[in-house]
Amino acid sequence: MGIEEMTAVELGRAIKEGTLTAVEALEALFEKIEQTDTHINAYITLAREDAITAARKVQAKIEAGELASPLAGVPIAIKDNICTHGLKTSCASKILGDFAPVYNATVVEKLKDAGAIIIGKTNMDEFAMGSTTETSFYGPTKNPWNTNKVPGGSSGGSAAAVASGEAVCALGSDTGGSIRQPSSYCGVTGFKPTYGAVSRFGLVAYASSLDQIGPIAKDVRDCAAILDVIAGKDKMDGTTLDIEHPSYLASLNGDVKGMKIALLSERHMTGLDGDVAACVKAFAKTLEDAGAVVEEVDLPLIDYVIPAYYIIAAAEASSNLARFDGIKYGFRSGDYDGITDLYNATRSEGFGDETKKRILLGSFVLSSGYYDAYYQKALKVKNLIKNSFDEIYSKFDLIVCPVAPTTAPELGKSLQDPLQMYLSDVFTVSANLAGLPALSVPCGFDKSGMPVGAQVIGQRLQETKVLNAGHAYQMVTDHHKRTAEVN
Ligand code: GLN
Repeated sequence: MGIEEMTAVELGRAIKEGTLTAVEALEALFEKIEQTDTHINAYITLAREDAITAARKVQAKIEAGELASPLAGVPIAIKDNICTHGLKTSCASKILGDFAPVYNATVVEKLKDAGAIIIGKTNMDEFAMGSTTETSFYGPTKNPWNTNKVPGGSSGGSAAAVASGEAVCALGSDTGGSIRQPSSYCGVTGFKPTYGAVSRFGLVAYASSLDQIGPIAKDVRDCAAILDVIAGKDKMDGTTLDIEHPSYLASLNGDVKGMKIALLSERHMTGLDGDVAACVKAFAKTLEDAGAVVEEVDLPLIDYVIPAYYIIAAAEASSNLARFDGIKYGFRSGDYDGITDLYNATRSEGFGDETKKRILLGSFVLSSGYYDAYYQKALKVKNLIKNSFDEIYSKFDLIVCPVAPTTAPELGKSLQDPLQMYLSDVFTVSANLAGLPALSVPCGFDKSGMPVGAQVIGQRLQETKVLNAGHAYQMVTDHHKRTAEVN
């Protein structure tokens, strides 16, 4: 089996058993990237030399029996909004230009300690704002299943890299769906953990109360293996939870007997793309055949989730992005007259249109006179959404629904109709507003051959249940094993 076909866990095992070395695996991967990335544009930065040096050291430690993690020697790609010491972290924005952080994000530090090899930084929507990876300063990423289509976003580079075989696994970030939706569009598996399960230290903030880092990989087992490494309390992030948990990977047994599953009701399915609805229903049926009990429910307050999300996310973004002013990081305009003009010119030239739109919207909803009418109201809706999920979880173990209403759209189409693009986040943003763990699992293809994703959402900190449902499905299906042919 070539490394392209291997999952992260399989590759880690092969390296441990001596079938191939970490350096050989890396060289094969960089060869694949060289052949493929001109068509896909999944990476903003590659770290070949550093990766080879790291792989040599890790290989020596593996041979000395000093590294036990399933990820030892396994290459991993990192979304470009996660800080990597000395390695450009641009958030796909001109304003962060050549910004090279002086520290690693906690997740990066943990992956390195486990022996994973950082191979490069993946493309994304600027500052993670978007659903297509078209707002990147570095040009759009293409969907490996059809290069005329978007890979989804904002973690489109990470999802496309895994789908095209340019990465074995990757990290993404998810504020309103940015791990799950590109995973769905690219036919890979992505997981957004419970808010606070994974440290955000070193993640460049978009909307701090919603952001979470999580894995994008070839299957649920790989997601669990990565989560085992990155999850946990971090003294550098006060919102991380101090929770003991068993190994997520070791807990995967595929047993869903008696599990109570709430399937999105037929009423909501009718507005969807027919192929997506059919695939998601078939996904639920497979779990039912494996012993789960499936019942239809309405998703709580579904008509209010998009307005609440876009108000809260933009409000927090406008505050978080105030720090990019040309003084401390990255790009500074060369053309200014005095300090105020320096800020203005730098931000006008440095941010792209989508980011500017969010800053304007966020500043508006936070401004006096509108704060109560919009921001406060959105926070109240957020609370109601959380409560109504709690009610569902008093009767059910999991919720199953689509990740997105359609498969990947054509490149260039979505940004022409931004409202439609925002509305397509309808199934993903709730999990962020309520802080819930949510998984995207490949569950079939539409008539044009584009992948469809099913979403499994669980109660807070029920990662094991969510992952196990996905694993149960992957034990009896092979959608996640099909690979895109890029040429
Ligand atoms: N599409 C959503 C947005 O633009 C979600 C992005 C994300 O999860 N980072 O805000």
